[in-house]
Amino acid sequence: MARLVMKFGGSSVGSAERIQIVAERIMEKKKEGNEVVVVVSAMGDTTDELLDLSKQITDSPPSREMDMLLTTGEQISVSLLSMALQEKMQPAVSYTGWQIGMMTDGCHGRAKITDIQPNVIYTALDQDKVVVVAGFQGVSENGEITTLGRGGSDTTAVAVAAAIEADYCEIYSDVDGIYSTDPRIVPCAKKLDEISYDEMLELANLGAAVLHPRAVEYAKHYRVPLIVRSSFNHHEGTIVKEESGMEQGAIVSGIAYDKHVARISIMGVEDTPGVLAVFFNALADRHINVDVIVQGGTKDGKADFSFTVSLDDVEAATDTIKSCRDCANFDEVISETNLVKVSIVGAGMVSHAGVASKMFDVISKQGVTIKMVSTSEIKTSCIIAQDSLTEVILALHTAYGLDTNQQAVVGGPKVRR
Ligand code: ADP
Ligand code: ASP
Ligand code: MG
Repeated sequence: MARLVMKFGGSSVGSAERIQIVAERIMEKKKEGNEVVVVVSAMGDTTDELLDLSKQITDSPPSREMDMLLTTGEQISVSLLSMALQEKMQPAVSYTGWQIGMMTDGCHGRAKITDIQPNVIYTALDQDKVVVVAGFQGVSENGEITTLGRGGSDTTAVAVAAAIEADYCEIYSDVDGIYSTDPRIVPCAKKLDEISYDEMLELANLGAAVLHPRAVEYAKHYRVPLIVRSSFNHHEGTIVKEESGMEQGAIVSGIAYDKHVARISIMGVEDTPGVLAVFFNALADRHINVDVIVQGGTKDGKADFSFTVSLDDVEAATDTIKSCRDCANFDEVISETNLVKVSIVGAGMVSHAGVASKMFDVISKQGVTIKMVSTSEIKTSCIIAQDSLTEVILALHTAYGLDTNQQAVVGGPKVRR
């Protein structure tokens, strides 16, 4: 007997029919004698639809009310799934985040988990029930409802698994596991049997939607074995764990992309000491994360700076830079969207030369301009125009020898996000 957490994403519970299938899947594990806690996301595109709805009311919804709204999505799916289980004579109970003591800080829209009080879960498990927990949500010390950021149900699942000392955590999605890149873009992408926490963390941080970055962080920290697999079939998935055999092998093990990226350029900045600190301190004060930063050359005492932020932060970042005019002189600030950050990741890059230059070469042969570059020990990222994404990823995948003869298995249509 094992204690496990099974997490089903929106793509797995997109309809009443899918919820019935998921209920059967859970009962298979229960019948094997396991203690089962289930974490569920909102059905299909529900979260996006709720976001669209709020935009019909206001352009700038208060973040507290936004969390109040978005958390309803998961409340629908947990209750329906618990009903489906009970209808099939499997005792079950659904809980919201706050009912299981999922404590977070008060940062609406991107809250971090601070504590979990799993007594309610233990009590229900002792009663032989399947416990169905709403993903993506928590409650702050002040009793305010919070959300963990888009895709955050993965994080709920791993945090719950750590809190109840589960033997492992399964993330069920619409793909067979973790692939060398998004199998919806590269159908001949390679399914990985295993991947290390570090490489997966890098891929997730660089946009591989299959796992929420913080879920991987928690899994690594609390040593929770993670298995990513499909809810549409019984194929074996991918294990995310401490060490991975492939780490020594491939130089580039994965390619990720992130479309939620925008470039802000500050043109004609009077290049005086401390000027960068003025801009970036102001951005930090507003909790705006800055990613790639590039400084152009200085001419006539003036320089241009560019940096990237999340697409959600473009307006706030532009306003913040404009508000710095009192302390820093510059000509203008420009924002650019419709971009994508494409990244190659691989532990083998540390010890091999020429990996990044090959990337630049492949991209340029596609006739695509590289707008910005950033590198770390195990990754190289390029910012390019979004309309070149597919051709660039396909070309990189081939160039780094990642293509296979097999078609990737993808279940159902793509859920928006
Ligand atoms: P869920 O609703 O189950 O949380 P997500 O949409 O969040 O599903 O994540 C699954 C999707 O992640 C897949 O449909 C796939 O398009 C995308 N994806 C991106 N990169 C990868 C990758 N390297 N391996 C597998 N899937 C990936
Ligand atoms: N429902 C939330 C979202 O769409 C959380 C999740 O699916 O993990 O982002
Ligand atoms: Mg997801």
